[in-house]
Amino acid sequence: MQDWQVGKLIKKEMAASDVTGLIFSLPRFQKAMAGQHYDIRLTAEGGYVAERSYSLASPPEEVGVAEFGVQFVENGEVSGYLRELSLGAEVEMRGPLGGHFVWCHTMPGPLVLIGGGSGMVPLMSMLRHHVRNFVPREVIFLVSAKTVDRILYREELLKYAREVAGFRFVEAITDMAPEGFGGYTRRVDLPMLKEVFGGLAYKMPMAYICGRTGFVEAVTPGLIQLGFNSHEIKTERFG
Ligand SMILES: Cc1cc2nc3c(=O)[nH]c(=O)nc-3n(C[C@H](O)[C@H](O)[C@H](O)COP(=O)(O)OP(=O)(O)OC[C@H]3O[C@@H](n4cnc5c(N)ncnc54)[C@H](O)[C@@H]3O)c2cc1C
Repeated sequence: MQDWQVGKLIKKEMAASDVTGLIFSLPRFQKAMAGQHYDIRLTAEGGYVAERSYSLASPPEEVGVAEFGVQFVENGEVSGYLRELSLGAEVEMRGPLGGHFVWCHTMPGPLVLIGGGSGMVPLMSMLRHHVRNFVPREVIFLVSAKTVDRILYREELLKYAREVAGFRFVEAITDMAPEGFGGYTRRVDLPMLKEVFGGLAYKMPMAYICGRTGFVEAVTPGLIQLGFNSHEIKTERFG
């Protein structure tokens, strides 16, 4: 297990309307794999400790820093605190952690990324890793969010969709969609998975699904029905 260290907040900007993007500099940086996370620990004056996990949004190529995307949770102890941090603030953290939900550009085959809400964060690290180590392959990123303004990193994703060969960005919105919105306007379901990923299974893709437990459990069986190999489907649940 990694030791705790103190990260210093060097950049803060909104990654979506309810998600704060935070970049910390780390004195003892260790290279991560795309998909890994850090634990963040807050200690109150009376000694009360709250510890939560946050995935890296930054790709392994970003040296010396850790970027997180923290969704604000109503009455949330840690997410609420992190949202209010000022530049220069110091926070205890340890990582990178986790060895199951990881992807490396040396892995063959297409890449399927399916994220609900802040579940997009570790998938963004994988996509950025692919972009920085480009080899031609199919990469499809299906995102589900309540509204368009809650889709994380949307501008960056639209840019990749225009500029990165083989990359497809598919949006699904569960609330009202703005006029001219070209994506789906419902929850992710089997017909949608068929339309987006049908015919891909025989190419042996690696698939990564991340979000709240209900989202992950609703999506995973659909990919298996489409013929995806269960050993090549990796899931991460945010609670
Ligand atoms: C491996 C891993 C990686 C994670 N990565 C991220 C990440 O990149 N970004 C991110 O925003 N979160 C991530 N999470 C979730 C994160 O660890 C916290 O659970 C989340 O920020 C809520 O913590 P809190 O202290 O603010 O809320 P708490 O004080 O723990 O909970 C407050 C209330 O909100 C409910 N609640 C708790 N978690 C959630 C949730 N995720 N959504 C809605 N309601 C909730 C609780 O039931 C409770 O009623 C990750 C979790 C895991 C296990």
